[in-house]
Amino acid sequence: MTLQGKTAIITGSNSGIGLGIAHELARAGASVVINSFTDREEDHAIAKDIADTHGVDARYIKADMSKGAECRALIAQAGGCDILVNNAGIQHVAPIDEFPEDKWDAIIAINMSSAYHTTAAALPIMRDRGWGRVVNVASAHGLTASPYKSAYVAAKHGVVGMTKTVALETAQEPITCNAICPGYVLTPLVEAQIPDTMREYNMSREDVIKNVMLTRQPSKEFATVEQLGGTTVFLCSDAAAQITGTTLSVDGGWTAL
Ligand code: NAD
Repeated sequence: MTLQGKTAIITGSNSGIGLGIAHELARAGASVVINSFTDREEDHAIAKDIADTHGVDARYIKADMSKGAECRALIAQAGGCDILVNNAGIQHVAPIDEFPEDKWDAIIAINMSSAYHTTAAALPIMRDRGWGRVVNVASAHGLTASPYKSAYVAAKHGVVGMTKTVALETAQEPITCNAICPGYVLTPLVEAQIPDTMREYNMSREDVIKNVMLTRQPSKEFATVEQLGGTTVFLCSDAAAQITGTTLSVDGGWTAL
């Protein structure tokens, strides 16, 4: 399956799941635009590595997904958008009565409202080009809840709702909009939590992974960024042309419980 001639924009893609998705879309032949708010030399080096590895065009564009105007500018600056992957996200954990207002606002802005701005800017471009795929990286927390993650759960449920609405608004066009709902994925963000948790519970790495992190993931295995990239490529394939407005869980059975 080839995505040659398609341009994919992946928000929040200088690490973790977004970077994994960028690699798999590039492997399938798409030109990719990676993004974060940082604009470091290494961000541009990541784009060059993708280009060199897969023989495609790859570029880094700085844009802060907490700011609506920058979300829209990202789409405009990319000079094309056939595939939009809304992936940027942050987390903060606290009981709701102690949840800092600035963290609430940032999570809602980056994890949810950014997808409104980028989708609004991308749809007219997709319509002009006669084809489009919007893939929203939600979460198992877009379908279920956990304590102390009120902003994250609210934002991810919001993304799932927006996914359905965009799918209905584009249902009679060659454009689809779906959400991928990962369970726990071993990204640098999650990896960094392992040593502290080992100390806190006086547990081995294996026990922390199985009995603390993956308690709700029946497979007792992390999903990988490559699997999420492969799921995204599938949603961009012709086989998925009638899949729209739905969620695809990649969670080792979490939401079957
Ligand atoms: P990560 O921290 O490795 O990646 C987050 C990305 O978002 C980074 O590229 C970061 O630069 C970017 N980002 C953060 N704030 C930004 C901003 N203001 N503007 C632009 N970019 C910004 O984490 P990850 O685990 O790869 O998470 C990626 C997505 O997957 C998030 O939406 C997250 O909620 C979702 N997710 C992750 C897991 C998991 O277990 N890792 C599970 C379910 C869903």
